Amino acid sequence: MEKRIFLASPNMSKEGYEQKYVKEAFDTNWIAPLGENVNKFEEELADYVGVKHAAALSSGTAAIHMAFKALDVKQGDIVFCSDLTFSATVNPVIYQDAVPVFIDSEKDTWNMDPKALEKAFEKYPNPKAVVVVHLYGTPAKIDEIKEICDKHGVPLVEDAAESLGATYNGKQTGTFGKYGIYSFNGNKIITTSGGGMLVSDDEERIAKVRFWATQAREKARHYEHKEIGYNYRMSNIVAGIGRGQLKVLDERIKQKNDIYNNYKEGFKDIADIKIQEIPKDTNPNHWLSVITLKEDSKVKPIDIMEVLEKENIESRPVWKPMHMQPVFKDYDFIKVEGEPVSTELFERGVCLPSDTNMTKEEQDVVIDIIKKFWK
Ligand SMILES: *Cc1c(COP(=O)(O)O)cnc(C)c1O
Repeated sequence: MEKRIFLASPNMSKEGYEQKYVKEAFDTNWIAPLGENVNKFEEELADYVGVKHAAALSSGTAAIHMAFKALDVKQGDIVFCSDLTFSATVNPVIYQDAVPVFIDSEKDTWNMDPKALEKAFEKYPNPKAVVVVHLYGTPAKIDEIKEICDKHGVPLVEDAAESLGATYNGKQTGTFGKYGIYSFNGNKIITTSGGGMLVSDDEERIAKVRFWATQAREKARHYEHKEIGYNYRMSNIVAGIGRGQLKVLDERIKQKNDIYNNYKEGFKDIADIKIQEIPKDTNPNHWLSVITLKEDSKVKPIDIMEVLEKENIESRPVWKPMHMQPVFKDYDFIKVEGEPVSTELFERGVCLPSDTNMTKEEQDVVIDIIKKFWK
């Protein structure tokens, strides 16, 4: 195809909401610092997901980092982490000089396996925190995971970078744990070009995060510092884009849902292809539609990715598990038994183009190209 089809690319509102908020910032010369858009974006996002407080930051990774700092994760502390995720879930554990322990996925949701989590608690009874991911916008078994964390008195952080708007029993992902984080990176369901949000009901901790994120400047006429700070705040321009994008989040979720259903329908007669399932009691946001191929399928993920690339269509393997990453090879990995589920998903999965800018006709081309393998 002449026009490249992406996995997920930015999609600004056709109404131009983003530009209106950005223009307001320009008109009042409120380019920086902070300002109205930042405050309002925090309020509006907190309202949308149903938490009391939010801090707008420069990235989702910064938000995860601040969640760990707010929990006083420090040198030598253990943090249980989803194994199947993007490295940004884990890097902040290392920023704090703490020690990640990776927890395998389970087959229903592809997310952290509550049984493996229990097993990890047997081996390491006192982790400082647990960070769980809602992969590709599909909620983890968050009730069970939360219950296990509560039983052990360990705080839960939800990396909802990919799952903004997804719900479990009607409640938004990112609002179950002590802290939740969202990302507005360019490929996420809504984007500010780059940015993130930390949410919590704990007003004091969120205020503290805002303080750290603005270089830990004490209240004084001169620059007074009692703590190490970070330059992690979101700018007023970026927040304007976020306010506009929030207005079309529900529309984007619906579009992602249509894309998912179209793939599901398109591949229903191909026994070798299985699309990521919708777990009971959940409404995923379907950020990415992801398929796995049966173990004995003669078509492999690489075949699909190569043929799509030839047609200028982007696709990717499933995240490479953290326990397989060279940089994390020295850290422990806990699984229930047999082959790790995360490894299997990595070896058999393909993320399909799930771009809300893609037309139905373009998506049908993607489906046809893939189906040709079975003709
Ligand atoms: C995108 C992503 C992040 C990082 O967010 P940034 O805003 O890019 O820093 C963290 N975790 C997961 C699971 C992600 O997909």
